[in-house]
Amino acid sequence: MDLSLEPKNETDSPIAGLVSQFKKLPGVGEKSAQRLAFFILSMSESDVSTFSSELVTTRRSIQYCSHCFSISRQEQCHICLDPSRDLDRLCIVSDPQDVFSIEKTKSFRGVYHVLGGLISPLDGVHPEMLRIPELVARLKKHSYKELILAINSTVEGDATVMYLQSILKSFEVSISKLAHGLPMGADIDYADELTLQKALEGRILL
Ligand SMILES: [Zn+2]
Repeated sequence: MDLSLEPKNETDSPIAGLVSQFKKLPGVGEKSAQRLAFFILSMSESDVSTFSSELVTTRRSIQYCSHCFSISRQEQCHICLDPSRDLDRLCIVSDPQDVFSIEKTKSFRGVYHVLGGLISPLDGVHPEMLRIPELVARLKKHSYKELILAINSTVEGDATVMYLQSILKSFEVSISKLAHGLPMGADIDYADELTLQKALEGRILL
């Protein structure tokens, strides 16, 4: 008889199910997943219950803002509904996470437009799959003083900026992009607040 406490294989482990769920998260490998699973075991049952129900309710209640396409609990997000925002300055980003990163810097008081990705023909992402027609519709409706392209400087980011420049040139609006404070290939999402703030303040007119 095998009296070893070690599970014979991964699926025999009593926490295997939990570990495999944590491994679905970005940047979480086997070891971290196991550490998180053991941490869950150390929590009280009510805390685990609150944690899990928050996951489900947040996922269910979040929708895309009908105006800027950032995430929201209502039809329009809190930024679009905020009367103190500068409606003449539009910051164009690829993902809702970028809105959160820029908001953290507290150095932008305008509004946003989330494209929902970047142009990447190799990955099958073409301009018509992004919220570019919606952006053009916004520009036709409102004359903005400034458009800020807060888009990562990567191959896909640069392709998206070039495409946007070509379709936005018919509008009378000044277009700027983030300063080179952000290193090449840097992700807006991971840039520290000060670097991002400097990149925004020193934005370059295109
Ligand atoms: Zn919004």
